Amino acid sequence: MRPQSLFPLFAEITSLSGIGPRLAKLFARLEVERVVDLLWHLPSGLVDRRAAFALADVPADRVVRLTLRVVDHQVPANRRAPYRVLCEDGTGRIALVFFNGREDYLRRLLPVGHTRLVSGRVELFGERLQMAHPDYVVAEDEAHLIPALEPVYPLTEGLSGKVVRKAAAAALAKAPDLPEWLDPALVAERHWPAWHAALDAVHRPSEAQAVEPDHPARARLAYDELLANQLALALVRQRARRRKGRALTGDGRLVAAALGCLPFDLTGDQRAAVDQILADMGADDAMLRLVQGDVGSGKTVVALVAMLTAVEAGTQAAMLAPTEILARQHAAGLAPLAQAAGVRLAVLTGRTPKGERARLLADLAAGGIHLLVGTHAVIEEAIQFKDLGLAVIDEQHRFGVFQRLALSGKGRAVDTLVMTATPIPRTLTLTVYGDMEVSRIQEKPPGRQPVDTRVVSLARLDAVVDAVGRAIAQGEQVYWVCPLVEEAEGLDVTAAADRHRDLAARFGDRVGLLHGQLKGAEKEAAMAAFADGTTRLLVATTVIEVGVDVPNATVMVIEHAERFGLAQLHQLRGRVGRGDKASRCLLLRAERVSETARARLDVLRRSDDGFLIAEEDLRLRGAGEVLGTRQTGLPQFRLADLEAHGELMARARDEARLILARDAELQGPRSAALRTLLYLFERDAAVRTLRSG
Ligand code: ADP
Ligand code: MG
Repeated sequence: MRPQSLFPLFAEITSLSGIGPRLAKLFARLEVERVVDLLWHLPSGLVDRRAAFALADVPADRVVRLTLRVVDHQVPANRRAPYRVLCEDGTGRIALVFFNGREDYLRRLLPVGHTRLVSGRVELFGERLQMAHPDYVVAEDEAHLIPALEPVYPLTEGLSGKVVRKAAAAALAKAPDLPEWLDPALVAERHWPAWHAALDAVHRPSEAQAVEPDHPARARLAYDELLANQLALALVRQRARRRKGRALTGDGRLVAAALGCLPFDLTGDQRAAVDQILADMGADDAMLRLVQGDVGSGKTVVALVAMLTAVEAGTQAAMLAPTEILARQHAAGLAPLAQAAGVRLAVLTGRTPKGERARLLADLAAGGIHLLVGTHAVIEEAIQFKDLGLAVIDEQHRFGVFQRLALSGKGRAVDTLVMTATPIPRTLTLTVYGDMEVSRIQEKPPGRQPVDTRVVSLARLDAVVDAVGRAIAQGEQVYWVCPLVEEAEGLDVTAAADRHRDLAARFGDRVGLLHGQLKGAEKEAAMAAFADGTTRLLVATTVIEVGVDVPNATVMVIEHAERFGLAQLHQLRGRVGRGDKASRCLLLRAERVSETARARLDVLRRSDDGFLIAEEDLRLRGAGEVLGTRQTGLPQFRLADLEAHGELMARARDEARLILARDAELQGPRSAALRTLLYLFERDAAVRTLRSG
């Protein structure tokens, strides 16, 4: 349960005075919905109002502080002309200019003959000085009302800096003092402020450096977030490990029989991954290993070797796939190999008929089924194994860690192998997988034809459609991917539906449509029709991204490619070039795109290496963007900037390990504070892995 001290932070922002539903809607666009989100909404810059000048030597185009005596009000003759208030300071004169100024208000604000402190941006209008709409006008004895340094927040249309500053101040006032969760030695070494003081320093800066990522206050907040992330990962891992492991070793008989009927040898990287996996399985500890390999690198065979080894050792193995299509495809691919090895394999998905499911469950519990491949259906409570030894999870980023644990929980000492084609740059692996062991398959199987990749302007759409027509006429098949429209949910579906209509007008019923709003059965039907060649052109949103295999598909068209992450484009491109025919990928870009966008797409044209592409994407866009795109399913950080705070990440990992090594259940003196940290960053699920206390 979330500690009571945090309740005010997790209240809606409408709980703050001055924020009603109208503002809340605007704030929501900035992903600010609760009070805590305001605290995390850090200033991106600041305005320095400290410099005071005499009018004789005031610089133009700069925010300054002036001490002025009010001389005269020039009330405009008509409403369109500006209202001017003339002032002087003994060295020169300046006009304060107001559009739509109300006379009674301005006369009260700036009474003739009185002195006022004014802050704003000075402009030179011909020879004359003026300041339009001063930010601050206060009496001489109210100098403290003008902030020396004023934070500048990221804004959205309709939301002014003033409103956001007020809201941030209100949120800050609600922020409790929390117990220190950091190691005092680290805090001392880095000269970091306490949590609340750090928030103050960032939201109410007293020095210009407070916007720099390496400022102690910013670094501390970033470290808090990173530590929460690493501690949560370490807890989950600890729970996975705590399940006692057991050594699973095979005699290689089944593996040899299955590999014997493959028309190829394993690549060096595949063999290396297999060796690491078998060594893990043979050890007494429970395995928790990630196999990271580009699309088409051949992860499935590696998983098969692991699963057959588990069977040789007298246990069962299960493979979890994110979609029905993938589960069935895996099962179909593995079935002949399993058969050659004399091993029984079954498929279980949400759509397995009742009677079949009942028989399957009985068989599984009795140990008659050795290998089970399926979707989420496999994790359900009712599914019991006789003795599950190995759990394989494909495309792991589609599943939460807890689904992963749920599968591993179905046996007494289950080894876990997760496989992903998301080529996360080395520097970021840590943030996503914590300290899971990693095997990388970088080498591609021999004989792959690289996909001929071209970047084409959307202005040449007609030519592209002609090319697609030629490919179809030659018996080839084509994917046509429409982008996700970030701002407006559902628009992507409209875009895909519109494109489908256009293409169907030309190519008739040979064109299929696949998008996320179709029902499960409709999706499968669309996919199946494309797989068996009934449809030749499949218009789709990114739902086809994950692992689907149609060897006859040779052309991939991606509309508005500039809107995708490179890793995702690479994944999509991996859908073609699977058979022995030459394949093409056409990246359609908007007519006008930025230099960066051009450079990014060019990376894809030049390279076929998912890891290199991911590194380049990181370099060109920055970690925030790479991790931030919602398609990746990777965690996002709000305070930490992985480029600026990379060093802190490694430190946080080490500290998280140390914390659990000393106090595995978080029961010791620092534990209450650390639990608060986990709740503060919404790692509630990780806290639940702990025994109560
Ligand atoms: P992914 O890593 O994307 O899951 P798959 O396991 O689906 O890749 O493998 C892609 C294709 O490559 C499959 O058709 C598979 O049979 C083939 N393949 C796997 N390993 C090799 C190899 N060593 N040599 C040749 N082809 C291979
Ligand atoms: Mg795969």
